[in-house]
Amino acid sequence: ERRQLKSLRRLPSVTRDGTDVTLLANLELPREVETAVEAGAAGVGLLRTEFLFMNRDDLPDEEEQTAQLTDFLRRMNGQPVTARTLDVGGEKLATALRQPLGEPANPALGLRAIRLGLREPKLLETQLAAMLRAAAEGPLRILLPMICAPAEVRKVREIMATVARRLRRRGVRIANPLPRLGVMIEVPGAALSADALAPLCDFFAIGTNDLVQYTLAIDRGDEQVAHLYDPLHPAVLRLVQFTVDAATRAGIPVSVCGEMAGDPRYTALLLGLGVRELSMSPGNLPLVKRRVRSLDLVEATRRARVIMEQSDSGRIAALLDDFNGLAA
Ligand code: PEP
Ligand code: MG
Repeated sequence: ERRQLKSLRRLPSVTRDGTDVTLLANLELPREVETAVEAGAAGVGLLRTEFLFMNRDDLPDEEEQTAQLTDFLRRMNGQPVTARTLDVGGEKLATALRQPLGEPANPALGLRAIRLGLREPKLLETQLAAMLRAAAEGPLRILLPMICAPAEVRKVREIMATVARRLRRRGVRIANPLPRLGVMIEVPGAALSADALAPLCDFFAIGTNDLVQYTLAIDRGDEQVAHLYDPLHPAVLRLVQFTVDAATRAGIPVSVCGEMAGDPRYTALLLGLGVRELSMSPGNLPLVKRRVRSLDLVEATRRARVIMEQSDSGRIAALLDDFNGLAA
């Protein structure tokens, strides 16, 4: 079994009826790059940059961040790297940012992710500067976490343009044209605004971890309600569907990068909904690739349509398991 999965590494990620599916890695630490390369990832679909801010009392400066990002690009051998701006707050914390973050009554609903970046522009400017510089060395894309409204994307684009002007004036080499800028769709409000967000974005990345949390009002880390955390809830699937349709109409790529993307149980459904890029923990990549290679996309699309007509998540799970050949 192990060897069989390993041998998948060199085989293409393509469905039985010939559609290519891009399988990417989610990375949280520099040392994970090797696992991603070994697993045959086509790039990094989500680089969580929080590690740069963890276990220290100061903030990483522009040079340090540039060097780290450039290192990821180099070690990924020219494959695209999607770097997400800082996503602290909520369940993710950083010592040096304790002050601005404060002690919100509802951390998951408070000052976090891009909201913090827009409140503390220096923090965001430094990150964007490092990303513009690293993007001169390789295919780096920029991803914004927890976007809720078009105004936030417009603001970030303004800040990015200012940062670019400043760097050019300093004579620093940056990417030209500027790197592609995309947003996480991980809040129901963003998913339902996907049609309004798409014209401002070069790509979408659907974050199902938070999308499930916010859609079903289930704290993703709370054991007491973990049994209610349900990626197959029709409301979640409708938000995914709406987002994928909006991206397709706007002609921008859309990936799924929550845990759902790394579970072969959901592969047929996500592809059936129109997703063609999945980003996951590198360890899951061979399992998902095996599922991609085993399925017929025409059939998966037909099944997804039937699933989207269901109102009960238990029924959806049963239909999916049946299609996956897991039915008892
Ligand atoms: C998500 O929310 O699905 C996601 C990929 O981001 P994170 O898990 O880092 O919040
Ligand atoms: Mg998230």
